[in-house]
Amino acid sequence: MTNLFQAERIDGKGFAANLVSRLADEVSTIKVKTGLTPGLAVVLVGEDPASSVYVNAKHRQTQEVGMNSFVHKLSADTTQAELMELLAQLNNDPAVNGILVQLPLPAHLDANAVINAIDPDKDVDGFHILNAGRLATGQEALVPCTPLGCLMMLKDRLGSLQGKNAVVVGKSNIVGKPMAQLLMGENCTVTVAHSKTQDVPALCRTADILVVAVGRPEMVKGDWIKPGAVVIDVGINRIERDGRSRIVGDVAYAEAGHASAITPVPGGVGPMTIACLLANTVTAFHRQQNQKN
Ligand code: NDP
Repeated sequence: MTNLFQAERIDGKGFAANLVSRLADEVSTIKVKTGLTPGLAVVLVGEDPASSVYVNAKHRQTQEVGMNSFVHKLSADTTQAELMELLAQLNNDPAVNGILVQLPLPAHLDANAVINAIDPDKDVDGFHILNAGRLATGQEALVPCTPLGCLMMLKDRLGSLQGKNAVVVGKSNIVGKPMAQLLMGENCTVTVAHSKTQDVPALCRTADILVVAVGRPEMVKGDWIKPGAVVIDVGINRIERDGRSRIVGDVAYAEAGHASAITPVPGGVGPMTIACLLANTVTAFHRQQNQKN
């Protein structure tokens, strides 16, 4: 599909930089007012290269906003009991306001049990079953970072989302499902598509808001997109093209010129994810302080 590219590029990188700068100001104020420094603990088990890159980026950005960063790197043969023991220590440590266990975990560890061992009030990834339940029932929750970032960009672009038809492609626990819950919370009419959905293109064409989190390079073609839709592309896919390795999203960006706005990949959703992790840590800090007072 060839068309004049008129869609606005949603600048997730700039949006994230702005959020991080506001968080740095807030952390400074917290330090002055309370004498305390919010802290984030990140636990990495094993040496998966992509996970190491993510953990290093989280460590650097946590320090850049003035928070304490505690990184725990454990060997790949760490037992479930050893990991649980560390989480119990972190749960009880008042200097730690947020805890994140980098996924995926080595196969011998029970990821659900590990996540549910984190104090839900320190669960800054929002994956604990209690936070998932709170989100699903419209209660105050710590919300998974990637969909939270997507929602912020959508509200910035559209203002009220009420009454919009939203289609979320992908139903993972970390992106698709919480994204759908958040959009329902904004009074969108939400449809969730997945690998067994019939006629995904026809469903996508009904979307005023289209969020795609599948992990298939450029799966969503231009003619799946309704003219004027806002498209959020969560996918991160490494492909070879023209003899070069490059990162593309789940949406064929060059074909999406008739959307009103679209997030690029890279530079769209990705930068917002860590920014929202930092935001969740500050939120967790405030809630913990309020509980004490
Ligand atoms: P998962 O693999 O956990 O989930 C993928 C989802 O896509 C599943 O629900 C699956 O359906 C669905 N799906 C697969 N094939 C199709 C298809 N042909 N048509 C419709 N639906 C399909 O992935 P994640 O949610 O963890 O991640 C999705 C993408 O987002 C990945 O590229 C990942 O790298 C990226 N990502 C980016 C982040 C960021 O910070 N920007 C953060 C997290 C993820 P079913 O349930 O039926 O199997």
